[in-house]
Amino acid sequence: MPRTLLRNAILATMQPERGPYGLVASGAVVIEDSSVVWCGAGGEIPAELGRIEATDLGGRLVTPALIDCHTHLVYSGNRAREFELRLQGASYEQIAREGGGIVSTVSATRAASERELLAMSLPRVDALLAEAVSTIEIKSGYGLTIEDELKILRVARRISDIRPVRVVTSYLAAHALPPEFKDRADRYLDDVVLPGMEIGQREGLIDAVDGFCERIAFSLQQIERVFAKAKALGLPVKLHAEQLSNLNGAALVARYGGLSADHLEYLDSDGVAAMSAAKTVAVLLPGAFYTLREKQMPPVEQFRASGVPIAVATDSNPGTSPMTSLLLAMNMAATLFRLTPEETLIGTTRNAARALGLRDTGVIAPGYRADLAVWDVAHPAELSYRIGFNPLHQHIFAGAFQ
Ligand SMILES: [Zn+2]
Repeated sequence: MPRTLLRNAILATMQPERGPYGLVASGAVVIEDSSVVWCGAGGEIPAELGRIEATDLGGRLVTPALIDCHTHLVYSGNRAREFELRLQGASYEQIAREGGGIVSTVSATRAASERELLAMSLPRVDALLAEAVSTIEIKSGYGLTIEDELKILRVARRISDIRPVRVVTSYLAAHALPPEFKDRADRYLDDVVLPGMEIGQREGLIDAVDGFCERIAFSLQQIERVFAKAKALGLPVKLHAEQLSNLNGAALVARYGGLSADHLEYLDSDGVAAMSAAKTVAVLLPGAFYTLREKQMPPVEQFRASGVPIAVATDSNPGTSPMTSLLLAMNMAATLFRLTPEETLIGTTRNAARALGLRDTGVIAPGYRADLAVWDVAHPAELSYRIGFNPLHQHIFAGAFQ
């Protein structure tokens, strides 16, 4: 098996037992095939592993490759006009009620072929890959018919065939109510969301099931119908919860043993307690907070106090977070939500993996995938400190230099 030795690096292994960032000064990593087989101090490499030519990383920082655990990046069209309207004073809710918002992206996405959708999505993927993002979660949710939802998921799967990236899909047909089902949300669930989930699951297109629980989207009772179906099909659940108001969505996710509850600005202490008990990950999305100029902060201090794992993602989408930089999301999480630089890096590595139910990535340790980022920085705090700067030196995906 091909073996690679990286040495003379500062390792941020993100192993909790190794202290802040899991740091190892003067570290080395041994990669065999697509996995890490050893990591630690350079002077302690076992003799049987050390007898190969080494790549000297010149004292650079090595972290696990980044993981964007919440995106909607397969879509057509853009919402620059809506951006302009919002700047002229309209709220997200007003725009949605007037048939703008998600619905305008749905029309454009329905009209696009699979090939067109792929072509439009790849530049967004490539922007993330340029920051050594190795794993991207991609949601459907702009099709809102069975065929168009599955089309989006097929495009998402295709991305991992033609780019060095792992894609994890979420079925988000319960994202918005399409105009043809106006005032008939339960009928939409019966005719589209639930049967589409069954077909998508059968075709291997769905890794998890998501929903949008909000006054402008679906009620708690309706989301529970979606979750019950997911459970029957053996699919894990997650939810856009407590973004604009508190409907107790996060507690529902916790009750279903879900992977994550996302956004959470309006989460109350009961919701925090439910997430803590269920070990549900809190995925914070500062890009949407920033775009909507939200004032309500997610309860970060309560997450810390009750041990709720925190992840950070771009929420890359055309309406509320047209962002394709996870480094920028880390900076925003630090500046807007007061996460520490270490929390932002845990949130885009170890905890992001957890939010996706992945146990083989997000940490540098023996047995984990060799998805690594080599950065031209001396300390990991630099990754969230700078605004709009990409210090990536090299990206290693499944053991291969990209
Ligand atoms: Zn989202």
